[in-house]
Amino acid sequence: MRVHVIGCSGSFAGPGGAASSYLIEQVDSDGRTWRVLMDLGSGAFGPLQSVIDPAELDAVIISHLHPDHYLDLTGLEVFWAYHERDDLPQLPIHAPEPLPQRISAVLGRDGDVPDGVDCVPFAHHPLSDRQQFSIGPLDIEVRRVEHPVEAYGFRISAGDDVLAYSGDTDACEALDELAAGADLFLCEAGYIEGRDDRFSGVHLTGLRAGQAAVAANAGRVVLTHIAAWTDPAVPLAEARSVYSGPLELAVPFAVYDTSRAAASA
Ligand SMILES: [Zn+2]
Ligand SMILES: [Zn+2]
Repeated sequence: MRVHVIGCSGSFAGPGGAASSYLIEQVDSDGRTWRVLMDLGSGAFGPLQSVIDPAELDAVIISHLHPDHYLDLTGLEVFWAYHERDDLPQLPIHAPEPLPQRISAVLGRDGDVPDGVDCVPFAHHPLSDRQQFSIGPLDIEVRRVEHPVEAYGFRISAGDDVLAYSGDTDACEALDELAAGADLFLCEAGYIEGRDDRFSGVHLTGLRAGQAAVAANAGRVVLTHIAAWTDPAVPLAEARSVYSGPLELAVPFAVYDTSRAAASA
């Protein structure tokens, strides 16, 4: 599995990049490359177009309906609805239940059909805890995580390769289970110890992300969702204080290979 960082800025787009979005690619046994987009937050539809032609997407999965994880679906919907190709199938979007109403509200329209066309561009599949589904060669397991809104993390497998994505969450059992033995653990570290102690049930600190990685025995950890006002060296050092395996910070346009991750772990 290849994972491209499209955007990784926490909570809002930053001066150096967009909010959360990751592109997963996997080649199946027939040689066809499948492309699944995981989150499409504020500002991320721009850089996505410098990595792939969005018309090549097979599906989108959205962890939760905070703007820094889904808002640029409004751009993708325009792209899909008005594209010069008229053979684009409905694009499957696996996302929390209220997604269609949220998109319509942002766009100020009634219903799901964009102005001037006669069909709904997206096929919405609501997420639920412990749901499992497949997109081509990718098997996806969904777990409800700890965040102020309905929010999910994903465990994505292709053969023996496992990618775990925290979405936005504070420490919870579901997160440890999602990440258990993962080759690559893409884990948020939105908070830092001390400064953010007044919040609970929202985000991990670097320390709590590191503790989750230890509990899960994850093979390689990439910290993400660090906001522009945070010095990324701080959550990195917090995680490093408890987790001794391969550890780094997500940066825009980085590419990870889960099989290489496994080999180097
Ligand atoms: Zn977020
Ligand atoms: Zn959130």
